[in-house]
Amino acid sequence: MRKKVIAGNWKMNKVLKEAEQFVADTKDNIPSSDKVESVVCAPYPFLASLVDKAAGTDLKVAAQNMHYEDNGAFTGEVSPVMLKDLGVTYVVIGHSERRELFGENDDTVNKKVHAAFNHQLTPIVCVGETLEQRENNETMTLVENQVKQALAGLTDDQVKQTIVAYEPIWAIGTGKTATSEQANEVCTHIRNVVKEAFSADAAEAVRIQYGGSVKPANVDELLAQSDIDGALVGGASLEADSFLTLVEAGA
Ligand code: PGA
Repeated sequence: MRKKVIAGNWKMNKVLKEAEQFVADTKDNIPSSDKVESVVCAPYPFLASLVDKAAGTDLKVAAQNMHYEDNGAFTGEVSPVMLKDLGVTYVVIGHSERRELFGENDDTVNKKVHAAFNHQLTPIVCVGETLEQRENNETMTLVENQVKQALAGLTDDQVKQTIVAYEPIWAIGTGKTATSEQANEVCTHIRNVVKEAFSADAAEAVRIQYGGSVKPANVDELLAQSDIDGALVGGASLEADSFLTLVEAGA
């Protein structure tokens, strides 16, 4: 049985006090990490404080991005070494907003995935199609290519520790959720792609989240699907109560 992983992606929201308040409001009610992995993906300036405030609880802290180099002349960037040093344990890689607005591509995503493993960070690797690509029936091919390129060069063991987030871009922040069947269809395809490219064991172990307008009202149905092992949640992760409902659903 794959353990579900629920990750709240705050994006560029909150100020430090609000972020700390969220941890204070949730940390004692997070279900045991034996049952579900509960993660908040916070902006860089909050990470040190949140890791400290969540220490000893079942709430884990992720970064929303990082650079793939360890250090050097990369003004404005944050390295995996820095994240690891702070006690961050997960990192979101290749979110569609990074790909669309900040020039990330399958090559940088692959470099970042390797960098994450080099520094014992668990990558949450985002893939997904635009509405136009879905309408042109390109979803399966596109997602297949994104997954193959993102994971290229990993060992089977590393693939088993990877989290892939399938996020159809047309469902992000729009209130339009993919139906649970649509979401599961692509997640099943991703698992088959991993099986072909790596092994049956790796495919069985890799966790695949769905993301795109997940909320308390639809999370149960999505998580009940055969190949959906969690959720990457934007808007509905910002409020403590809503986040707690989502992680409970995964437990
Ligand atoms: P949303 O965002 O839940 O607000 O649609 C999901 C995401 O972008 O990860």
